[in-house]
This record gives sequence, C-alpha cells and structure tokens, in this order.
Amino acid sequence: KLYNQVQDLKGSIRVYCRVRPFLPGQANRVNAVDHMDEGSITIITPSKYGKDGRKSFTFNRVFGPYVTQEEVFADTQPLIRSVLDGYNVCIFAYGQTGSGKTHTMTGPKELTPESVGVNYRALGDLFFISEQRKDSFSYEVSVQMIEIYNEQVRDLLAADEIRNSSQKGLNVPDANVVPVSSTSDVINLMNLGQKNRAVSSTAMNDRSSRSHSCLTVHVQGRELASGTIIRGCMHLVDLAGSERVDKSEVVGDRLKEAQHINKSLSALGDVISSLSQKNSHVPYRNSKLTQLLQDSLGGQAKTLMFIHISPEPDAVGETLSTLKFAERVS
Ligand code: ADP
Ligand code: MG
Repeated sequence: KLYNQVQDLKGSIRVYCRVRPFLPGQANRVNAVDHMDEGSITIITPSKYGKDGRKSFTFNRVFGPYVTQEEVFADTQPLIRSVLDGYNVCIFAYGQTGSGKTHTMTGPKELTPESVGVNYRALGDLFFISEQRKDSFSYEVSVQMIEIYNEQVRDLLAADEIRNSSQKGLNVPDANVVPVSSTSDVINLMNLGQKNRAVSSTAMNDRSSRSHSCLTVHVQGRELASGTIIRGCMHLVDLAGSERVDKSEVVGDRLKEAQHINKSLSALGDVISSLSQKNSHVPYRNSKLTQLLQDSLGGQAKTLMFIHISPEPDAVGETLSTLKFAERVS
C-alpha cells in the first residue's frame, strides 16, 4: 500500500536543468541562453562550435535564473516522501565550477531560511513527515558525509567528538554513521563536515570543486502495528566541477585530479544512461562513486540529476558539454 504511493514520479530518472543568474557586477552581459520555458532550453552556439545558430534541449524541468530555492525544492519534495516509504534516492548536482551546484544543494554563503538549498530542506521535510506519521511509524534517521577525491573516499564525519553508532552503513564502508533526531543535529554535522573538508584544502586551493561530496541519510522505519521494518536512504551529491582541463596546460597533481574527475563523471554518465536505456549490464565498477551508490542507482531506486548552466557566452563550450551529458542520461 505505502509502497505504491509514489506513482506521481513517472520513471525513476529525472533531469532538471537550472540556469544561474549573472552574478553581481556582471550586469548587461550578453546571455548565451536564447530561450527557456518549463521544459526546454535553447543555447546560442558561436560559430567555433559548428554552424552558428541555436541548439535546443528538453528536460523534465528547466529552472530559470530567478526561480527560488523554495520553488526548486517543490519539484524535489516527492522524492523525500519516498525515502520514508523505503525507497533509495540519489540527488546529484552536475555542472562546471561556478555554475551553481553548491547553491542548489547547500545554498549561498549567507544561509537564511529562504536561501538554504535542497539538503537542508530535504532533512527538514524528512523530520516533518516522520513526525506526521508518528502514530503509525517510528523512524530512526542517521547520516554519513564523505568526500571522494582522486578516487579515494574520505569520511568527513571522522572526529573524536562524534558518537559512532553500531548501525551498518549502506555500501560506504568504515564511514561513521551518526544518529540524528532533528534538523539542527544535521546542520551541526554538515558544518563539521565542511570544516573537515576545508582543513585538507589549504594545501590545494579550493579542493571542493575537484572532489565529490556526498551527504547520505539513512532512514529506518518500523510500522508500529505490524512491526515491519522499512529502510530507505538518500544520497545528496555535490559533484566535482565538470569542466574539461586542457591537458597541454596542466601537469602533475592537477592533471591527475582532472583525469580522475573526468573518469568518474563519465562512469556516472555511463551508469545512468545504461539504466535509462534498461540495459542488462550496468557498469557500476568503473568508479568509486558508482560503486558506493550501486544500491541506490537502478532497481527500485530514484535518481534526480540537477544540471547547472552558467549564462556567460564564454562558458558556452562547457554549457554544451553539460547539456550533452544531461541529454545522454535522460
Ligand atoms: P559551484 O558549486 O557549481 O562551483 P556555486 O554554487 O558556488 O557554484 O555558485 C557560484 C556563485 O553563484 C555563488 O556565489 C552562488 O551563490 C551564486 N549562485 C549560483 N546559483 C545561483 C542562483 N540560482 N541564484 C543566485 N546566485 C547563485
Ligand atoms: Mg561548489
């Protein structure tokens, strides 16, 4: 019964495109986006990318530059309910550095109730709905936070002050699983995770754009009447920047980073596109990210990919490659 409530989300893979506004100080710039509506976007392609003209792409949703965080989340909300119904969910933010991935998932630097992103809103909803259901279900929620950098997994919640729970995590071996009972518990952990992330980034400036970060929320519900246990989890993934690095310009560590990012993003694209084509073989083993998320990609699981677009004409090469990635996975 409960398990069938989620028919409102057609298909298990959805792709939403979000266009960032011009940043303060960028007024009166030429816009690479020619046209957009609820489900399509048209980009002006300069001659260096082939015939000078326009190229259109269609998605499940397109969010223009002035769509609010609240409106973006409204289209994400049904997925949160399905986690409490026992589904596994992955929400990804894809795009070049500076296109708005962190804005969508976490929010801008100054966080206010209006500006917070999907992560905070999803957790808030999770606790809200579990409270609504408290007469028939008892839920336990716990979180993990990891980073994948150069195909190595690092636990962002590995700190002495954290209480380690005995509960087993899903496919993220050895990473702390921390029980939480309110949104503010989660905010504290996210802050700690951000701090741990920052510690390692001093040597290499802005490592955050070159690693994937993943907040995983585990939910276990017990139906009070029957004692039936249901489990769901949600992975909220802020991916590494998708920009192509010119191999002739970088060497050493930067080249290695770029190759790892390239490999793992294309492995993710391969997995999602083979799922959407219902292929029998899904190549999960080709990257750390897809290995870790294997149980939450495909099968009954639901995937939402937010792809992010910068409006500047000089970003159009990356914009087109982002749109092509998205077209392949939708
Ligand atoms: P990324 O994580 O992809 O590198 P950010 O999320 O850091 O990009 O966004 C770059 C800048 O643009 C930040 O200052 C961010 O607050 C701003 N920004 C991104 N998307 C939006 C948006 N939809 N509305 C307002 N500002 C945005
Ligand atoms: Mg970011």
